[in-house]
Amino acid sequence: MKHAAVRLKPKEDGRIAAGHCWVFSNEIAEVTGDPQVGDVVEVKSSREKSLGFGFYNPNTLISVRMFTKEFREPDKTFFVDRIKDALGIRDRLFNVPYYRLVYGESDFLPGLIIDRFNGLFSIQISSAAMEKRMPFILDALHGLFSPAAIYERNESPTRELEGLPQTRSILHGVEQTADYDEEGVVFRINPFRGQKTGFYFDQRLNRIFSRRFAQGARVLDLFSNEGGFALNLAHHGAESVLAVDSSQQATLALRINSELNGLKNVSVETADVNEFMSGVASSGGTFDVVVCDPPSFTHNRKSVTAAKVAYRRLHEKIFGLLVKNGTLLTSSCSHHVYRETFEEIVNDAALRCGRTLQLLHRAGAAPDHPVLPSMPETEYLKFDAYEVR
Ligand code: SAH
Repeated sequence: MKHAAVRLKPKEDGRIAAGHCWVFSNEIAEVTGDPQVGDVVEVKSSREKSLGFGFYNPNTLISVRMFTKEFREPDKTFFVDRIKDALGIRDRLFNVPYYRLVYGESDFLPGLIIDRFNGLFSIQISSAAMEKRMPFILDALHGLFSPAAIYERNESPTRELEGLPQTRSILHGVEQTADYDEEGVVFRINPFRGQKTGFYFDQRLNRIFSRRFAQGARVLDLFSNEGGFALNLAHHGAESVLAVDSSQQATLALRINSELNGLKNVSVETADVNEFMSGVASSGGTFDVVVCDPPSFTHNRKSVTAAKVAYRRLHEKIFGLLVKNGTLLTSSCSHHVYRETFEEIVNDAALRCGRTLQLLHRAGAAPDHPVLPSMPETEYLKFDAYEVR
């Protein structure tokens, strides 16, 4: 069968040949066969060599998202196979069925994220082609898992670029919660209400790592969400934990989770971190451990400069609150701020505050967020642990 095809310009095909999944609109020399939004196209090098097949969308900067080298019809069987491959990895990694089951391009399902909370599944789609194949995705999930519920959490800004609406709905079952046991700390998660797709699985191993700094510590957890770090630290010997988040839904869930774990050493403040910090900034040396895990400060390259300034100011305020020989556990999930840059900013802030840093540990997202070495865009989370002198 002859497919519609996209031929790349000379010198623009090396990245795709090396395994990157995105063809940008300015890299295309010629389109043949009149493909429509969401159709499968064959991608060819400038010399007409086949590089594989991808989903087409002429209306976006990312014109093709590759999903296979050898042709495969993206039907139900295809989705079953790909989800099974993804499941194989998660089964080996985790001892409870709570994880990011499918992480888009990194699991060769571009534009599709699926989080699993035991029998509850939360789906986020960010491309028109995936949206068209939703029936196959649902069939595949029903066949593999007999889910109790499936939610659609299609509220990401990237959907607008693909001409897709913002929606949240229950596709199967009813709204319900699931109790996720993070190696001894329980989180009651409502995947239909929680932020993004319900819960931040990406920080799981970093939260478990954070436990070693808990003993006897006065902890501040900034951008706490539902208590990911706060409760791990509170459960593992912290003297006190103060959690701050601006989302009322998140702090309410944090309080519930705190009770669920029988923790008495956690207090919660629903506040904007900047406002909170200006309120306490002058007190100095109040906390032994500060956790900082803000949302992304930039969604494009243009705002990187502003993001850098925001990171620096935030960390300057943190250093004002940390005791001598305290611990900073800080994260950045801004795609466009690379690790090296992030670490320079944190160090710059420390120097401005007369502090000296020792970097103890570097990490990224948990392994249910695989990284494609050929595609740097699949890596985003930076987590660093510092001793602050
Ligand atoms: N550490 C958490 C995840 C944090 S996600 C975990 O492990 O689960 C980032 C959080 O920052 C979100 O909960 C969001 O509500 C919060 N947030 C975003 N902007 C904020 C602001 N200006 N002040 C306080 N919280 C903010």
